[in-house]
Amino acid sequence: MEILDKCILCPRECKVNRNVGELGRCRAGGMPKIALANLHYYEEPCISGEKGSGTVFFTGCNLACKFCQNYKISQEFSGKEISVETLAEEFLRLQAEGAHNINLVTAFAYVPMIIEALKLAKDKGLKLPIVYNSSGYEAIQTLKMLDGYIDVYLPDFKYAYNDLAKELSGVDNYFEIAQTAIKEMKRQARKSSF
Ligand code: SF4
Repeated sequence: MEILDKCILCPRECKVNRNVGELGRCRAGGMPKIALANLHYYEEPCISGEKGSGTVFFTGCNLACKFCQNYKISQEFSGKEISVETLAEEFLRLQAEGAHNINLVTAFAYVPMIIEALKLAKDKGLKLPIVYNSSGYEAIQTLKMLDGYIDVYLPDFKYAYNDLAKELSGVDNYFEIAQTAIKEMKRQARKSSF
């Protein structure tokens, strides 16, 4: 995808060419990479429900949280590269298994591919609400791409103090960036028909 030639999908704005294997902070490449796609029962109760949330864990992260519970996925980059078509099939498989929703976890680096996969899956009968599960450290231009595709935003607002964000997650200006991102999420959610 052309948008990956000079990646600014998240606030890190690495400007690397992911299509030729250059690595930015998140280490994501030119294809979606996922660690796991399964029914998850330990999200917020309203998301997991009784049958589970159809959770897709995307590989890589733009933060470096010392307390990360998914360290192997976020920092050690474990997972498998798949095509957009296969990602769409994963969404449909989770629906067939009874998931209440599709829950995209740490998906910022793959948003353009996810949108294509959602279009494909919807053409083939995907009806579930889509949850975007985020650290809050998101770029506005990327969130705007998602306008109309996301039914529920689930941002973890991690820090009100930027010095703590720097110390524990290695990031500058977390508070301002997350605050702006969450306002955009709220704007989209307000007009959602879901
Ligand atoms: S998505 Fe990854 S490569 Fe792109 S700007 Fe963010 S950290 Fe850098």
